[in-house]
Amino acid sequence: MKVARFQFEGEISFGILDEAEGNGDGRGGGLELVELSGDPMISGFDTTGRRIRLEEARLLAPVIPRSKVVCVGKNYADHVAEMRSETGGDAPEEPLLFLKPNTSVIGPGEPIVRPAISDRVEHEGELAMVIGAVAKDVPEEEALQYVFGFTCANDVTARDLQIKDGQWARGKGFDTFCPLGPVIETDPDLADARLVTRVNGEVRQEGRTSQLIHSLARIVAHASQAFTLLPGDVILTGTPAGVGPLESGDTVEVEIAGVGILRNPVL
Ligand code: MG
Repeated sequence: MKVARFQFEGEISFGILDEAEGNGDGRGGGLELVELSGDPMISGFDTTGRRIRLEEARLLAPVIPRSKVVCVGKNYADHVAEMRSETGGDAPEEPLLFLKPNTSVIGPGEPIVRPAISDRVEHEGELAMVIGAVAKDVPEEEALQYVFGFTCANDVTARDLQIKDGQWARGKGFDTFCPLGPVIETDPDLADARLVTRVNGEVRQEGRTSQLIHSLARIVAHASQAFTLLPGDVILTGTPAGVGPLESGDTVEVEIAGVGILRNPVL
């Protein structure tokens, strides 16, 4: 099931993406949003009965984290290798956690704004997990039960400020530095899903979820030892090799097989 958050006629709602029923005159077909009456991460999947054509709605970030975006650094071996000379070190024995503020989140199609005080803004295409239930000290074997679904994310980074500051809050935390979307897929096959990041159509990063150093379950369990995870919190799971610069006028895409394509322009 694909869950979206969207704006239609000035109102913001959640919806489920569904095939439209053709109307027999050659029109119809395509995709529709089945409107939900509340937030599916809080109140379940009650529908209002209204169906809205996808092209008439504007998709928003499929979730606005209520409290936090948790991120995992250095979770693909090839990315650890490419960063060794800049942020140092080997692959961490435990998931390396940091946070992005929820004010950094934007949706599909919204522009990533390069801050004037950075000369080096980079893309990091990542798989994101969306939390669906309060999770604290959960065991790894049960951890994925607390995940509502998955979406594409871009852990946009002001690399020069990340390196200069020695910690990552500012370099990772600017407004617009956490594009999410386009939808939350609740049950994708992530055993070996391909993750690709393109800039202006050119492949910059390519990895597979089977290459994650720390598994999705391990990440949730580990993060829940530190933080109470709340419904609507988001966890970014790390980026493969190939991170690189974003310039004004670029379009960056993060595609994860079975999840979707997240596309954002850069200003
Ligand atoms: Mg990252």
